[in-house]
Amino acid sequence: MIEVSHLTKRYGVHTAVEDLTFSIEKGKIYGFLGPNGAGKSTTMNILTGCLAATEGEVRIAGHDIFEEAQEAKKHIGYLPEQPPLYSDMTPEEYLCFVAGAKGVSANEMKEQITRAMTVTGLEPVMGRLIRNLSKGYRQRVGIAQALLGNPDIIILDEPTVGLDPLQIIEIRDLIRALGKDHTVLLSSHILSEVRAVCDVILIISRGKLVACDTPDTLETRFAAGVSVSLTAKCTEEEARAAAEALPGVSVVKSHAEDDRCRLDLSAAGDADTLCEQLFFAFSRMQKPILRLEVTHASLEDVFLELTAGGDPTETAAQATPEKSDEKKEEQAR
Ligand code: ADP
Ligand code: MG
Repeated sequence: MIEVSHLTKRYGVHTAVEDLTFSIEKGKIYGFLGPNGAGKSTTMNILTGCLAATEGEVRIAGHDIFEEAQEAKKHIGYLPEQPPLYSDMTPEEYLCFVAGAKGVSANEMKEQITRAMTVTGLEPVMGRLIRNLSKGYRQRVGIAQALLGNPDIIILDEPTVGLDPLQIIEIRDLIRALGKDHTVLLSSHILSEVRAVCDVILIISRGKLVACDTPDTLETRFAAGVSVSLTAKCTEEEARAAAEALPGVSVVKSHAEDDRCRLDLSAAGDADTLCEQLFFAFSRMQKPILRLEVTHASLEDVFLELTAGGDPTETAAQATPEKSDEKKEEQAR
């Protein structure tokens, strides 16, 4: 559906996106995950034809986004980071306006708007001014406008940013529902969000693609061995000695309290073998294991490792958003 090859974007001397190559297949939900300033919005703006690339090629359903922009754009519905909503319109008026701008024919307009409003659950607020809607409903209006023109690909830039927890859950459910009939690409800097809704995660760090896989594969690929936390009724010395006698097992941490001791262990092998060995080692000593818990390297660890040392200017930029925006605009001019 989307083929990106060797995509690079430079703002002056600053390289925001560097040599990105990936493809997006039909019918899945993709998550573009990366810390602030990683280059997510820049990439999405290029994919949707809103921004020119410095180098590289983007093909949408076989059409070059730069050379056959009109054909390519027909396949895409886009919710930008800051959706251009007109606050003095009602959702219905706004959707009419967008449908017109997208060239939706008069006889299809009503049906498409009704469908977009139903899918995004806008009916209860259709007569209210956008200015008076909650952020969650405004985001729904933004998603509804992306659905107009019946595009097969929906691109959403940080769709849940600034929403409260309940609104986040609702928007996530909506995205999952959209994924049934559309190919969806969304961006987020929040790992749990991408994990919750996406089939494939593309991790981007400092403008480069550092990983692309299913959440489960990413976790296994980067999980180095297995970690186990054990609590047994014995002294710290006894527990350490029993664990350290096992081949390939190392004690990461130990802590004794009252009549029990807790060990954090790591081993090279698989979890079942380690638990079995621990069980027999402690039962030979007649020391009962009270708790045994297997902990894998989490996706959070993978993400932190892959994106370590993100753009240091972004942390400062987040603290003073107005200033950084001014700078961005200045540089864009
Ligand atoms: P993300 O969406 O992942 O937070 P962006 O794509 O917005 O990241 O930004 C990537 C990098 O490019 C950042 O370092 C940002 O400061 C820079 N950048 C974005 N837009 C502009 C612009 N118009 N002019 C100059 N630099 C920009
Ligand atoms: Mg962004």
